[in-house]
Amino acid sequence: MLVELIVPCYNESEVIKMFYDECCKVIDSIKQYEFNFIFIDDGSKDNTLEIMKDLAKKDERVKYISFSRNFGKESAMYAGLKNSTGDYAVILDADLQHPPALIKDMLEAMEQGYDCCATNRASRDGDPFLRTFLTRGFYRFINKISDVNMPDGAGDFRMMNRKMIEAILSLCEVQRFSKGIFSWVGFDTKWIDFQDVERAAGTTKWSFFGLFKYAMEGITAFSTVPLKMAIYFGSLVSISSFIYLIWVVLKTIIYGRDFPGYASIIVILLFLGGCIILCCGILGEYVAKIYIEVKNRPIYIIGKTNIEKPINDYSKER
Ligand code: UDP
Ligand code: MG
Repeated sequence: MLVELIVPCYNESEVIKMFYDECCKVIDSIKQYEFNFIFIDDGSKDNTLEIMKDLAKKDERVKYISFSRNFGKESAMYAGLKNSTGDYAVILDADLQHPPALIKDMLEAMEQGYDCCATNRASRDGDPFLRTFLTRGFYRFINKISDVNMPDGAGDFRMMNRKMIEAILSLCEVQRFSKGIFSWVGFDTKWIDFQDVERAAGTTKWSFFGLFKYAMEGITAFSTVPLKMAIYFGSLVSISSFIYLIWVVLKTIIYGRDFPGYASIIVILLFLGGCIILCCGILGEYVAKIYIEVKNRPIYIIGKTNIEKPINDYSKER
């Protein structure tokens, strides 16, 4: 049985060799399975690709795919899965935040008949406090408003069998939110906890704004509740305005015309204006998503690779 290690790498020249050595220690001790690496160089600007090429020269188990530019980790994972041929695939980060030693436990779970063995970060010690706080809030929110359940701490670090890989690949949306996709496809999943560690070297690729965008991506990809909220909110405002209107008419009939009231008018006007813009914004988010999906552009473009028959993602082939 062939197990493939899918490793998205973006500017990881400092850790990639260390990562490879660590993995070799683990996989060389597992004799019942064959292993392959699929490194995806996500348009790195340092010499990540050169290191991958060196590794491939020394070890024929090493395959690499280098994108024509930076497409993002989601695209890298998709490309890895799309080009995988093994019975099982594991997705790991190159920075050793995902301990390769867990591969053994994952294989045990697969032998027990699970389709997937996913990991749960027991703590977020490797992350700054604010990021942990906001991430927790995000998961609480998204689990409330979407149908799929995305456990806080669940990462991309997981092993899947072919059945699940094919299911994931059948969801060919361009704007991918893997955490949602993994739980959307379902299947029997075993969860194992692992202690988070700081990355071995290099720096995280996530900026605050990047994470915020990712969170918005997750919400709009897996929930239409914001759109519905706009309807409820709009209805509430309309009903309140109507009640206020009746009150104003009655007041005028009973007490006669009353000129002062500039402040209340301005406040209501601004409030309503704000509501309308907010609802347009929510609508815009979804329209933008439709716009990108309709263009149906490839999720990734391969620049260089040592895979014999690489699978590109040109829309017609999908
Ligand atoms: N990564 C990638 N493309 C990107 C950003 C990140 O392939 O545009 C890879 C990165 O090389 C690493 C993994 O995704 O292997 C996780 O990235 P990072 O460690 O920066 O994220 P964090 O662990 O902080 O969530
Ligand atoms: Mg990391």
